[in-house]
Amino acid sequence: MHVPLTIGDFLERAALVHGADRVAIVDEPDVPGSLGAITYAEMHDRARGMALALDAMGVAHGERVAIVSPNSARFLISYFGVSGFGRILVPVNFRLNSDEVAYIVEHSGASVLLVDPEIEESLAGVSAKVRLLLDGNEDAELFAPAPGDAQPARWEGDEAATCSINYTSGTTARPKGVQLTHRNCWLNAAVFGWHTTVSDRDTLLHTLPMFHCNGWGMPYAVTAMGGRHVVMRKIDGEEILARIEREGVTMLCGAPAVVAAILGAAAARRERGEEVPGRGTVRMVVAGAPPPSKTIEAVETELGWEFIQIYGLTETTPLLTINRAPSEWDDLDSSARASMLSRAGVPAVGVRMRIDGDGEILARTNHVFDGYWEQPAETAKALEGGWFHTGDGGYLDGPYTVIADRKKDVIITGGENVSSIEVEDCLYQHAAVAEAAVIGVPDDKWGETVKALVVLRPGAVATEEELIEFCRARLAHFKAPTSVELRDGLTRTATGKLQKYKLRQTYWEGQDRKVN
Ligand code: AMP
Repeated sequence: MHVPLTIGDFLERAALVHGADRVAIVDEPDVPGSLGAITYAEMHDRARGMALALDAMGVAHGERVAIVSPNSARFLISYFGVSGFGRILVPVNFRLNSDEVAYIVEHSGASVLLVDPEIEESLAGVSAKVRLLLDGNEDAELFAPAPGDAQPARWEGDEAATCSINYTSGTTARPKGVQLTHRNCWLNAAVFGWHTTVSDRDTLLHTLPMFHCNGWGMPYAVTAMGGRHVVMRKIDGEEILARIEREGVTMLCGAPAVVAAILGAAAARRERGEEVPGRGTVRMVVAGAPPPSKTIEAVETELGWEFIQIYGLTETTPLLTINRAPSEWDDLDSSARASMLSRAGVPAVGVRMRIDGDGEILARTNHVFDGYWEQPAETAKALEGGWFHTGDGGYLDGPYTVIADRKKDVIITGGENVSSIEVEDCLYQHAAVAEAAVIGVPDDKWGETVKALVVLRPGAVATEEELIEFCRARLAHFKAPTSVELRDGLTRTATGKLQKYKLRQTYWEGQDRKVN
């Protein structure tokens, strides 16, 4: 028997098994339209209601629904209300500016655009056939529980159908739309949940943005098991600890920058003589950048939480490798254990990893995406030879993948990708700029931060601050350089190419890895 793997399975099961007996979501309190605490029965009714409302709006199966919002219960419901009933969700990074969001809405052809009230004003110029505010009023019908057993238009579940299109910045000036199928998302969630032993006793604190690769698929895994979701809109170390305490959180996912915020807040708590919650009960899954082993050690000793590292990309839904301490490491001292855990990990079940002749990491698995939305040439390049090309550089240490370098021209700051080309394009719009090279340099808080090396036109003047402001006015703020160095010239190869790895060298001297 072949039953298509579609992500609607997850919520349907949770509603059947746990129904009205169990809280599914604790929404962020005190924000417009907060749903408070809702059960799995209600979450399912609201997802079904959303599908009915989309039917009524004439949104066909396969049409795109874009959502631009920090984490919220509505976002979680949309995973299922949109994708679970045959439409395609387009989760958009809410920190992008209006032009960037407009590009994604247009490129994906989204007919519905859902916008959080806090960013309404800044996205005033972005339109779609239907645009609704996620404020509990404009979207009241969209998120109303379905009446009785009213059923939305039948969708013949197809596991090869696109579940979501997640735009990600990469090696092109514009972000590319990563098409993840239901099969990708289903298997990633199952394998991720398997490796991290997600159960119905888990409570997940949403410290990872839901837009980022659908929260790495963890929201699907937790829903499938009937675990509890605790929504968090903003990253704040103190608040994370407070919610862990209040809600009995057992799991969270985040980039190393989130870990740093938590460690800072924990130190402050200890200074005040207060306890740090979660010792022996919380596990934290970290990815997005290689976490320093000191940080890993601090998570395990200062917080007493289990540290799990994963590695992957939006294009791989994302799980490729996982590093979770096997029993053999139980007796290691904390620093030896942290150093073992600092590698990206061993292949997850069903994943094959390989390093090619140039040191690029390649992967083959059912989690590898279907393609870049309407960019067949880019897709072919990424999947050349039947392996996915990650653009990351590294090596194998036995079965362990170690990320040591980056082949692609991408900067990862606070867990979010920034395309160097996009920032360079922006700098070139400034009348005084003759040449620009944008690189990632190490940063204590963000792992890496954006630096621009700029050559001015003869006779032109521009200050560092002016160039930074120029970029901040045109790009999402996290993409703007945090420093600019004015140079007399930039060394190029005989064919006129900039060698980014050479430009980066000075700033990365003395570090084992050339990524952070
Ligand atoms: P994204 O598609 O935005 O999730 O970014 C994926 C990129 O993040 C990868 O190509 C890596 O460069 C980086 N990355 C993710 N996880 C890790 C990790 N555990 N260690 C090092 N880099 C990572």
